[in-house]
Amino acid sequence: MTNNMEQKINNSSSKGGGREGATLSDRLNRLAPSATLAMSQRSSELKAQGVDVINMSVGEPDFNTPDHIKAAAIKAVEDNWSRYSPVPGYPELKKAYAPGQILCSNGAKQSVCNTIMALVNAGDEVIIPAPYWVSYPQMVLLAEGTPVFVEATIEQDFKITPAQLEAAVTPKTRALILCSPSNPTGSVYSKKELEALKDVLLKYPNVIVVADEIYEHINYVGEHASMAQFPDIKDRVVLINGVSKAYAMTGWRIGSVSQKAAEAAFAGPQQCVEDMRLAFERRKNLIVKLAKEIPGLEVNDPQGAFYLFPKCSSFFGKKDGDRVINTR
Ligand code: PMP
Repeated sequence: MTNNMEQKINNSSSKGGGREGATLSDRLNRLAPSATLAMSQRSSELKAQGVDVINMSVGEPDFNTPDHIKAAAIKAVEDNWSRYSPVPGYPELKKAYAPGQILCSNGAKQSVCNTIMALVNAGDEVIIPAPYWVSYPQMVLLAEGTPVFVEATIEQDFKITPAQLEAAVTPKTRALILCSPSNPTGSVYSKKELEALKDVLLKYPNVIVVADEIYEHINYVGEHASMAQFPDIKDRVVLINGVSKAYAMTGWRIGSVSQKAAEAAFAGPQQCVEDMRLAFERRKNLIVKLAKEIPGLEVNDPQGAFYLFPKCSSFFGKKDGDRVINTR
């Protein structure tokens, strides 16, 4: 939102609804700003002051989009792929991925949000394993649902157990959001681990699994397991995937032209995905090694995505100058 717009909202005299001052909806006022974007902004501010900062906040490959994908987009512009596209996406793109039961939307973030908005009523509970991607609880709040966090510690490699899941389910549970490979921990659920969670969910037929697999191709275990692979729960899994991370296309947001580019991404040569994955793996190995050398930090060995989630609680209560280090 621009400052101007914000000012207008603040200045507008409110006749309707009896609301004074800022007139954003209650729905929006319930949301907290993204901590990731706040960190990113702080890093830009410090950089502007000349401080040497490495920004590790926003989850974005630093690679450029591969050339054959860019070429497909340029051709799509020249061929006038500029009109309203079908709501569920161009059939050619859907075919490039897998037949049937596919919807193309703007990006994985919008897809997760649309799913939550479509499923969750006021007061419904959504189970979110923690640590979690910061946007999930905000999406649940937007839908007037209640996020229910299930704490997964570093000792359990940040993965929830079937017993924890079982304990979190209530009659109000509507969905479980499961992110693997995970942002922010890089943890990857194995097929066996997913199967055990699935067996719990079979007892609760109203619970939908929102499986965010946007990091499918960035894994260091050589295979990807999905909740959707189990026939007995498949119909209750909404699987989210996309081109942002694997094909370095975070800024494309999938409209008409981008759908043609995404089609080239899925249908074209896949070596670029492996090249980027290998680079991420080399960097992961380096950063895990270096982080382990820092006294007081505890790290897991991420098996996917491009995140590291060091446990730093040994610093809590200590001082940096006058400031006591704490979680907030
Ligand atoms: N899900 C997770 C777990 C993510 O980390 C991100 C990006 N940070 C997204 C979804 C959003 O993906 P997209 O850019 O396709 O909207």
